[in-house]
Amino acid sequence: MKIKNIQTNIEKIPLRTPFATALRRVENVEFVRVKLTCNNGATAYGEAPATKAITGEDLESIISSIESIKEKLLGLPLLEALESLHVKAMGSSAKAALDMAIVALMVEQKGETLLQYFGAKDFSCVKTDVTISLNDADTMLQDAQTAYNNGFDILKVKLGSDINHAVDVTKAIAKKLPHSQLLIDANQAWNLETSLYYIEAVKGLHVSLIEQPVIADDLESLKIISHSTEIPILADEAVFTLEDVKKVYENGCADMINIKLMKCGGLSRAKEILEFAREKNIGCMLGSMLEGPVSICAAYALCFAYRDVIKYVDLDSPLLYKEVPDFVGGFAINRNQIKPINPANIEASKIPTLA
Ligand SMILES: [Mg+2]
Repeated sequence: MKIKNIQTNIEKIPLRTPFATALRRVENVEFVRVKLTCNNGATAYGEAPATKAITGEDLESIISSIESIKEKLLGLPLLEALESLHVKAMGSSAKAALDMAIVALMVEQKGETLLQYFGAKDFSCVKTDVTISLNDADTMLQDAQTAYNNGFDILKVKLGSDINHAVDVTKAIAKKLPHSQLLIDANQAWNLETSLYYIEAVKGLHVSLIEQPVIADDLESLKIISHSTEIPILADEAVFTLEDVKKVYENGCADMINIKLMKCGGLSRAKEILEFAREKNIGCMLGSMLEGPVSICAAYALCFAYRDVIKYVDLDSPLLYKEVPDFVGGFAINRNQIKPINPANIEASKIPTLA
């Protein structure tokens, strides 16, 4: 199979309510969808959302990155195309979109499914968290309560630079929902001092982890914070590639890592990181940006194959769509539970349609 054609278009899915973190606020999921066609007629899709605040890419730059490598990839066999893609310096999201489409075609060429290709064997449900957007304290408590009442017991709480607000929100949710799991995500909004203040203030509360408290390149502070608390510290914006993961791991800067297709450059790279994590026994979160259905499905496939190292699944984008789908691609979604509809016959990253 050789790549014959590469097409891109922009897609948009409205959200139920605006999504807000310390870094941004958005009302729609907007993403580039790339379609790869091979000389035998086989096709596969990939997607990349605009997340300028995180990867530095917007829709235009994702499309122009894909355009910039298009001529090089056309006519190449799949494995060569994958190699060419990953030696080129370009945005990680654009890379991820192409990578997941190429991997999907490689899987098809082998006559396998994505789940088989990654070695998934246990198809019982995986549970995703659900995001509580950054807002005033009362609204966040109300949103957390509503989510919990609807069966979402793992809450990803987005906090910002106002550390008193962060402490108040954490205390309020912890008190109101004692049986929830609280994943705190500061999205780099704190510094060493405010992080240590927060840790002291929430002592004794059931906080399951704190994600990326400080700015991505401040590994020194991240390390001090990790060593100052029993609460696991999870590196997100600090780890894009396998090299970043190794650096954080070898220097003991964090207890866990958040792997996202859009940061690492796609399925083939995420697989390398997950293999490393498995070897070193590093707990992972499999996360996402606000993404479209194809890239979320690709990530779902990884969840089933690496459930031994993926301690938390943060793939709730479809739950935030205005019209929450019953299934995405080959995966059924029931509240926070995700399950392949038919594990023996799934082509997750080939199916761009919603329910
Ligand atoms: Mg995060």
